[in-house]
Amino acid sequence: MAEPALGNPQNTIEILKKYNFTFQKKYGQNFLIDTHVLDKIIRAAEITKDDFVLEIGPGIGTMTQYLARAAGRVAAVEIDRALIPILEDTLSEYENVRIINEDVLKLDIRKLAEEENGGRPIKVVANLPYYITTPIIMGLFEKHVPLKSITVMVQKEVADRMQAVPGTKDYGALSLAVQYYARPYIAANVPPNCFIPRPKVGSAVICLNCYSEPPLQAEDEKLMFRIIRASFNQRRKTLANGLSNARDLAIPKELIIKSIEKLGKGADVRGETLTLEEFARLSNYIYDQQISTVLCFNEY
Ligand code: SAM
Repeated sequence: MAEPALGNPQNTIEILKKYNFTFQKKYGQNFLIDTHVLDKIIRAAEITKDDFVLEIGPGIGTMTQYLARAAGRVAAVEIDRALIPILEDTLSEYENVRIINEDVLKLDIRKLAEEENGGRPIKVVANLPYYITTPIIMGLFEKHVPLKSITVMVQKEVADRMQAVPGTKDYGALSLAVQYYARPYIAANVPPNCFIPRPKVGSAVICLNCYSEPPLQAEDEKLMFRIIRASFNQRRKTLANGLSNARDLAIPKELIIKSIEKLGKGADVRGETLTLEEFARLSNYIYDQQISTVLCFNEY
């Protein structure tokens, strides 16, 4: 089998010139030009011929070529219409690739997984457009797309936040949201010179190995995540003040204090020291108390 044609600066520039392509900053276009990094991504994602892979933002098809060689089937979703004729050219010899010209945030990925993979868990692999990293990843989780893993290039700072542990400066709502659904690990740090054009920030490849069942049970996931967000919105405040100031929660102060006591924590505890398991216990207690209040209320 021939070597992948893309993945180095010369061939990339040649293709861009052939199609007179101009980079669109608004789409976060930074194309990979380093074969070592591409090999590392494919290895980290542990792609086999049994896998159906969704690639988000294929660009000119560099990583798509690598994926097409390793996977059973690939669907590549690209928003920029100007890239579609280029993809049709660079991917012409791969019969297992479907190119979809769409905004990934508007695409029904559950339906795609159903059509292409019979609803079985899929792998997502991408060099993500950095301006929408969080909505893409959280959208995959919250819409309950069947997932084996997500292996993506993101800003280094975002990768650090995703795998941060309690009590560190990077720990926050994103760490907890990601760790509720998956086990994260950083597979590689990638400097700006591996891309064309060069991004202003460092990047990292992060692997999120998705749980088939969440590792803990939140009785009301939405309530737990609202509590988590409120706890980190006001980092310098105590957890009790952060939660009672949160407009979208409306939990009575006495119940907040009681639920923090139930965790065995002092009144001055801060949200950034709580583990995911503690946030789940806190929100389950609040949920149960609120449900029983509603039930008592309904009896009269
Ligand atoms: N995968 C290519 C590579 O590694 O060379 C390109 C990666 S580049 C960082 C991000 C890609 O995502 C671009 O091709 C961009 O046009 C595309 N993109 C940006 N926003 C998108 C969206 N909402 N839906 C689908 N693709 C998008």
